Amino acid sequence: MNRISEIFGKKVFNDKVMKEKLPKDAYNALRKHIEDGTELEGATANVIASAMKDWALENGATHFTHWFQPMTGVTAEKHDSFMTPDENGGVIMNFSGKELIKGEPDASSFPSGGIRATFEARGYTAWDPSSYVFIKGNTLCIPTAFCSYGGEALDKKTPLLLSMEAINRQALRLLDIIGSPASKVITTVGPEQEYFLIPESLYRQRKDLVFCGRTLLGAKPPKSQELDDHYFGAIKPKISEYMEDLNNELWQLGVLANTEHNEVAPSQHELAPIFSTANIASDHNQLTMEMMKKVAERHGLVCLLHEKPFAGINGSGKHINWSMATDDGTNLLKPGKDPISNTQFLLFLSAVIKAVDEYQDLLRISVSGASNDHRLGGNEAPPSIISIFLGDDLLEVMEAVAESKSSLPRKARMMDTKASVLPDIKKDTTDRNRTSPFAFTGSRFEFRMAGSLTSVSCPAYMLNTIVAEALRQFADELESAHDVEASARELIKKTYIRHKRIIFNGNNYSEEWVREAESRGLLNLRTTVDALPYFTAQKNLDLFQTHKIFTKTEVEARQAIFYEEYCKIINIEALTLLDIINRDVIPAVSSYISSLAETVNIKKSALGSDIACKAEINLATLLSSVCDALYTKSHELENALAESDDAQMNEESARYFCDVIIPLMTEIRTLADELEVNTSSEFWPMPTYGDLLFA
Ligand code: ADP
Ligand code: MG
Repeated sequence: MNRISEIFGKKVFNDKVMKEKLPKDAYNALRKHIEDGTELEGATANVIASAMKDWALENGATHFTHWFQPMTGVTAEKHDSFMTPDENGGVIMNFSGKELIKGEPDASSFPSGGIRATFEARGYTAWDPSSYVFIKGNTLCIPTAFCSYGGEALDKKTPLLLSMEAINRQALRLLDIIGSPASKVITTVGPEQEYFLIPESLYRQRKDLVFCGRTLLGAKPPKSQELDDHYFGAIKPKISEYMEDLNNELWQLGVLANTEHNEVAPSQHELAPIFSTANIASDHNQLTMEMMKKVAERHGLVCLLHEKPFAGINGSGKHINWSMATDDGTNLLKPGKDPISNTQFLLFLSAVIKAVDEYQDLLRISVSGASNDHRLGGNEAPPSIISIFLGDDLLEVMEAVAESKSSLPRKARMMDTKASVLPDIKKDTTDRNRTSPFAFTGSRFEFRMAGSLTSVSCPAYMLNTIVAEALRQFADELESAHDVEASARELIKKTYIRHKRIIFNGNNYSEEWVREAESRGLLNLRTTVDALPYFTAQKNLDLFQTHKIFTKTEVEARQAIFYEEYCKIINIEALTLLDIINRDVIPAVSSYISSLAETVNIKKSALGSDIACKAEINLATLLSSVCDALYTKSHELENALAESDDAQMNEESARYFCDVIIPLMTEIRTLADELEVNTSSEFWPMPTYGDLLFA
């Protein structure tokens, strides 16, 4: 046995452990519960809980927690010990079925978007048996959904689970109609996670990184990523050790961490797991992010998960690879050998095309947030305009279908590898377009707008829901067809023609595309504040209601939480920037100016008044005037912040933060960066970009 298989899933109460630890009927009941939600009887739940507890104790755990994903972006847990006092003044270890299935954390400090008045602060957590229980540290973690007293979802897991049910319902209907019935359709997700690692000692000296997770100022270093020498470069020993340690932790937790490599920006890396069911992928990605941070500490490093820690350098994304599969493992987005005659594939593909075109707004919203706004449209990041890349071959297929053709002249597409020792590689039918926000990559779509901090759940539930709606309409239409095959071909053709405008194989980073997209009538929602109002558009409320994902109140609450979070983040950033400018930058530059002036005096008195002092005088003059401008701007920002209505944190205040506060912060940054490049490194009060990125 090799090392990975020895440690893989060691800390997970997975199927193998269940089989081993549970009596046969309890195991069967649990499997049924996992597969189709059949209720567990109280007695059986007790047996399962008790077995979990024994296994947890054997593996060193002392506590348990309901592990959930509130609307904060991080996971939440409240630990209780297994301990119960016995009659003899000692303790026994206890864990009941009730404690496994339901929890009641005090929910009052989690965001609820106004759903939960403080007088009914109660919230409930409910066990999600489709995601395995695991041990983290000394705690048995039970993945749970989190809802209010009234049953409204207050977390990121609930809508994802509901959307998986929705797409399952509709996909099964369609498969049934076209004569290839299945018993279950799941959505699969493989999230590629990008991150930066920097030395902890330097991180501690940057208030902006500590408070905001990103730098708010910092001049471009002499060398950045222009040589592309970091991408896929040899991994430094220190980073290798980190990755090894991280893999170890993740494997034990049953996370299929698979590939790792250096990314484009200096100090940037990526980890991709092998894909799994959307819900598991989402839980595992949360665990991965948590472990990335924790393991970094052990190595004297800090893991930055912010989408844009450094201006002018690539940001970090989280590419959401997404597909649909039946329970026997058939990937519904696999084109097969002859895509043009593969009606089933073309139907599912068209459903995605239709969904993405009709719900561009929801996809944009699913990746929005103050931090990802810095990235979308920046270096190497897809722009805010949603479009689909199909690749030349598939585009050719769709064009032919639109002309009612059912075959293509077969072109062998081989890539000549030049060196004769290398085999000819069959050209990837989906010649990659890294600029596309939503690209077909052979047997799945890759949604590239999600940021490194984005929870997988949000883009995944949006995709599931919008595609479920397209599949629902397809099933409705084909249900009564006499000749299903002919009607399906007609439907594919009609759908493609109607939604073709969303397909774009060109360079998404170009200015021409922005204009072209506008003429095609595609949305260009540049900022979070531009996108959010669409959340509550009637068509979207209808969609969520039809598929039982959200009520109107829940959508409004989620929108309110987005606005609130946006305002809070920008407010913290602005306050941090002011703190740095007033307490660090201006005093440092002043001291340097004073030292320059002193030098002039000393030089003149020691060497005579004719001595050349141009360098000192010019520098001191320049710095003084930029410093004054900076002082004035920071006052402007202070006043603007005082005028912001931070009590409201609604659409209007978010708009104010977006249009007034952010531009002022940008102006301040420009001035501060000018000071940085002209100030002696001895005086500059914090590590520079060069220090942070090339440490
Ligand atoms: P690249 O960087 O070339 O896009 P990676 O190998 O880094 O590719 O990551 C590809 C990701 O896509 C992996 O997480 C992989 O598991 C995932 N993936 C592959 N096939 C599917 C699928 N059918 N459904 C969902 N995700 C998939
Ligand atoms: Mg990748």
